[in-house]
Amino acid sequence: MEWWVSMPKIELHAHLNGSIRDSTLLELARVLGEKGAIVFSDVEHVIMKNDRSLGEVFKLFDLIHILTTDHKTVTRITKEVVEDFASENVVYLELRTTPKKNDSIGMSKQSYMEAVIEGLRAVTAVDIDFVPHKINTQDSLNSIAMNDACDGTRRKKTYVRLLLSIDRRETTEAAIETVKLALEMRGVGVVGIDLSGNPDVGEWNTFLPALKFAQEQGLYITLHCGEVPNRQEVQPMLDFLPQRIGHAIFFEEEEWRQLKTSKIPVEICLTSNIKTESISSIDIHHFVDLYNAKHPLVLCTDDAGVFSTSLSNEYKLASTTFGLGKREMFELARNGIEFIFAGDDVKQYLVGAFDSAAKKLN
Ligand code: 5GP
Repeated sequence: MEWWVSMPKIELHAHLNGSIRDSTLLELARVLGEKGAIVFSDVEHVIMKNDRSLGEVFKLFDLIHILTTDHKTVTRITKEVVEDFASENVVYLELRTTPKKNDSIGMSKQSYMEAVIEGLRAVTAVDIDFVPHKINTQDSLNSIAMNDACDGTRRKKTYVRLLLSIDRRETTEAAIETVKLALEMRGVGVVGIDLSGNPDVGEWNTFLPALKFAQEQGLYITLHCGEVPNRQEVQPMLDFLPQRIGHAIFFEEEEWRQLKTSKIPVEICLTSNIKTESISSIDIHHFVDLYNAKHPLVLCTDDAGVFSTSLSNEYKLASTTFGLGKREMFELARNGIEFIFAGDDVKQYLVGAFDSAAKKLN
């Protein structure tokens, strides 16, 4: 097994519906095609297209949502996505998704999220820990021993935590509803709020009341920030002091300075940024500047299905493009422990898992 696959990894920026397998998407499209709800041949080439601009990606998401937004399918894709990440030795996964309402099928934001939780419960390929609880030391040591073996002979364990996304198309009231739901679902692994959706849509002030409320209530917050040039937004977002931000592409000099001073960790999504042409070439990606400045950062997939990538692939890509060795990549992955939205007990477990894997690094 290649080192980028076998090494333990932490995924902190993965959208549920963007991480769906192509095969599942095609199967769902075929079924809807047979029912006459869509024309399969029209949809097939849209799904299989490889490179898309950011605008085209959001059109694809509208199509994906038509195919996936029913309770059974949400449960299925959650199970598959978690199993896919676990199969490449992701030991801690923060999965984010936008709770959706669809009256015509009796779906509320809450029932959507219950279907997600059902998906976590349905995972069989690995042991999943998604409900926050105190780990006793012996359990912790036993689980590290289990996770120690990335050789497929013993059962692995993956921590999963959920972030609820506010879509930039939503109103202030809808955003507050999502935050309230997150608070109600704290006992089943929901730990924070993400602001995402088409960055050309919506205004910061619309979401601010909901984000402030979330912050006051102690939820963790991550924001998609600087995905498109928007001088009105980047600075207020940084001033807000979220626990992390995603992407950070279109920053002015002063904003880079503010980011570096603030030490807000950045979720870096290399393949996503290149495929959407947000960055013209990988060698000029801001990963290099942030890495050299020792700014907190973590490699992530964004939408493993939509961009045909995996977290292992992102590590391989960073290593080959930026000339970083196996040990440096291992350290980079391990540093991610500091930025997870979970308690010290989980962090302690992860440190143990990485320590144990480090012994096998040669
Ligand atoms: P879902 O929340 O439905 O599980 O995952 C898909 C949704 O995540 C998309 O409809 C979009 O709102 C959000 N999303 C996925 N990828 C990106 C991205 O690269 N940028 C932004 N801003 N939002 C994204």
